[in-house]
Amino acid sequence: MSKKVYEALQWASSFLKKAKRDENAGELLLRHITGMSRSQLFANVRDDLLDSQWGEFEQAVHEHMKGTPVQYIIGSEEFYGRKFIVNEEVLIPRPETEELVYETLKRINKQELKVVDIGTGSGAIAITLKLEQPLLSVYASDIAEESLKIARENATKLGAEIEFIQGDLLQPFRGQSFDVVISNPPYIPVSDIETMSEVVTEHEPHRALFAGEDGLDFYRRFMVELPEVIAPSALVGFEIGAGQGEAVADLFKKAFVNVEVEILNDINGKDRMIFAEINK
Ligand code: GLN
Repeated sequence: MSKKVYEALQWASSFLKKAKRDENAGELLLRHITGMSRSQLFANVRDDLLDSQWGEFEQAVHEHMKGTPVQYIIGSEEFYGRKFIVNEEVLIPRPETEELVYETLKRINKQELKVVDIGTGSGAIAITLKLEQPLLSVYASDIAEESLKIARENATKLGAEIEFIQGDLLQPFRGQSFDVVISNPPYIPVSDIETMSEVVTEHEPHRALFAGEDGLDFYRRFMVELPEVIAPSALVGFEIGAGQGEAVADLFKKAFVNVEVEILNDINGKDRMIFAEINK
């Protein structure tokens, strides 16, 4: 029996609700399978799905019910209005990170600067900065070749010219002089794994999430390595975890004599970004 679009959506939403999963996942999955936009889907709710589409949809909804994030099932996520390829080697780009990009662009508008994104994952930050501000020279690194493969695919698909380099934190860039260093490093304390959703912990790469007992390991390493890669006057912007603002600000103030630090909240009112203007 063929199914209509609205029947498929109703089934998915009640099935996922019972399983305590994202009820709206059905719409995203069906849009992916039918290739329809949101408005097309809702203008055609009485259309019959092909049997193959229904079969694929049922399977995708079950996969999400078992815990796989929708973005990994459909293989993409929107970031700053663009579609990025994702797989389980890279973190799914978050709306909070769009705020980091937005705040960064506000601080570097229309300048020909040399920028690096550390731990680029899907490449979302680096690629968005380059596309929004083509005058920038953008570099990006990741410790994992598997992630860089996705980042490179995204850059090619979206037409962003980025220099990608594999390596650990700032090591590949020693001796260079960056005007801007941006990063969304891992910042979750390892013990938080107990309280996190298994949709995250069983599917997203732990190397992109966890950072020692207090979540600050990478910021500490940055303070040691930054002096070797920044220009005499530089901007450093990090995404941070809720409640980490003061601690990361202290790290900056201890590491640099001449530094101005600004902690910003995300739209949920939590510490989420920190910017430091450093004069060496
Ligand atoms: N914001 C992500 C989360 O809460 C964590 C990202 C990170 O550690 N950099 O899942």
